[in-house]
Amino acid sequence: MRLGLVHVAQETNSFNPTPTELADFQAFGLYEGLQIPQRLAGVSEVGGFLEVVAEESDVVPVPILRAYAAAGGPLGAEALDWFETRIRAGLAAAGPLDGLALQLHGACAAEGEPDVDGGIAALCRWVVGPAVPIVLSLDHHADLTPRMVASVDAIVAHRTQPHDLLDTGRVATRLLLRILRERRKPVIAFEKLPLLAHQEQFLTDRPPLKIWFDRARALEREPGVLAVATFPVQPWLDVPGLGWAVAVTTEGDRPLAERLANELADLAWSLREAFQRRESLPVEEALARADAAPPGLVVLSDTGDTVIGGAAGDSPVLLEAIRARGIGPALVPIVAPAAVAAAHAAGEGARLRLDLGGELCPFFRPVPVEAGVRRLGEGVLRLPFHWASEVDHGRVALLELGSALVLATERRGVGGIVPELWRAYGVEPAEARLAVVKTASNFQYFRPIAVELLRVDTPGPATSHLELLPWKHIDRPSFPLDPIEDRRSVPR
Ligand SMILES: [Zn+2]
Repeated sequence: MRLGLVHVAQETNSFNPTPTELADFQAFGLYEGLQIPQRLAGVSEVGGFLEVVAEESDVVPVPILRAYAAAGGPLGAEALDWFETRIRAGLAAAGPLDGLALQLHGACAAEGEPDVDGGIAALCRWVVGPAVPIVLSLDHHADLTPRMVASVDAIVAHRTQPHDLLDTGRVATRLLLRILRERRKPVIAFEKLPLLAHQEQFLTDRPPLKIWFDRARALEREPGVLAVATFPVQPWLDVPGLGWAVAVTTEGDRPLAERLANELADLAWSLREAFQRRESLPVEEALARADAAPPGLVVLSDTGDTVIGGAAGDSPVLLEAIRARGIGPALVPIVAPAAVAAAHAAGEGARLRLDLGGELCPFFRPVPVEAGVRRLGEGVLRLPFHWASEVDHGRVALLELGSALVLATERRGVGGIVPELWRAYGVEPAEARLAVVKTASNFQYFRPIAVELLRVDTPGPATSHLELLPWKHIDRPSFPLDPIEDRRSVPR
C-alpha cells in the first residue's frame, strides 16, 4: 500500500501587513521527497505519519511536500503559486497512491484567496481522483470551509492546546489505514457557528474549552464514529465565513454525523460567554505583580504581539514599560531587521543609538534607545521545538539596554518562546527576573523555570480585544462583535 503525504501549514494573521513568503517557509525547512523523512522523524504531524507507517510492513510512505511557516501575514502570491505547482507535480510524479495523508493548518489566506487550504485540498482531490481516500488533519484553530469538507474523506484536528502535533499525525494516519483496510465509505457532517473568541480561554486542560473537547472525545467512542473534530478558530483571520466549526466523520451514517455535529455546535454556543472572559492584566498591573513576585523568573506573555498568533514580533510596548520601571534583569525578544543591521555594522562591544520596535507593523512606534552590542550571531538554530527541527532567526544582535537584555532578530523565528534561544547567545533565562514571550498559550518551554507567568493585555495584531481590530471581510453579525441569541438565526 502506498500512502502519499502532503504537509503545508501556515496560520494567517490578516492584521500583520508583512506577507508570508517562501523564505518564511525556508526558515523552518522546506522539504520535498526523501528529504522529509531525513529531516522530520519525530517532529510534527509528519513525524506521526512516519511513525505509524513504519509499524506497517505492507505500507510504503510516499512523502511529497512539507512546508511550515510560523503564523504571520497573508501568503504571498508567489508562495501560493509555488505550492500549487509543486503539489501538482509531486502528486503526478508519485505514481498511483492508495491513500493520501493531507496535513494542513486550515487558517491560511492569501491575497485574493481567502481559503488557501480549501484550494489545496481541492487540488489534491482533483489530481488523485475520487477513489483515493484523503484524510485531512488540521490545526484546531482552522477556519473549516465547505471546500475542505467536500474535498476529503475524513477530518481530524489537534486534540489539545498546546498542540500535540505527533498525536494528530498518528491519529490521522491510523484513520487513513483503517478506511483503506476496512474499505470504509465515510461521510462528514459539519456545522459552522457565528462565533469568535480571543485567545485567553484556549487551553484544553481547563473549562470552558476542556468541556467542549472532552465531549468530542466521548462522542468519538460511540459506535460508527470515525473522528470528531472541534474548531475554535484563531480570531485574527479576516475572511468571509469566519467562525467556529465542528466536523464529525462516521462510517457512512449521515444522520448520526449530523446529530453529533449539531450537539457539539450547541454545546459550544452554550459556553460562548465563558470563552470571552479575559485574564490578561494591564501593563502597569502586570509589572507591579512581577515586582512583588517571589524570587525567580517571571514570564510576561505579550498577548497582542504574539508571534505564535501571527503578529510581527516588533512591539516595544513591554520593553518601554520594563525600562521605565527599571525592573530586571529582563529578557526581551524583538524582531527588528534595521536595528540588527546597525548593530552588525557597529560590531560587538560598540555602543550606538537605535530605534527599536515598530519596524514592521503600524500598531507600534519605534522607541529611540542607546544600546551596547554584547553579542552578534546568525544562522540556523537547532531547537528542541515541536514544529520543526531547526529555525532560522536570520542575523541576531544581543543588545544591553540598562536593566534589559534585548535579543533583536531579523526574522520572527519562534518569538522567544524557548529558553534555548537565549542560551544559544550565552544568556541563562533561569537567572533573569523577567522574560517576555511572544505567545499567549505556548508556555510549556518556559514553565519549568518560571515562578510566575502573567498574560499582559498589550496592543498589536494578535490583541485579545477583537472589537478593536479593523475587520473588513468577516460576515456580520458575529458574536461577540454583535449580539446574537440564536445561532440558527445566523446561518454560516
Ligand atoms: Zn493552533
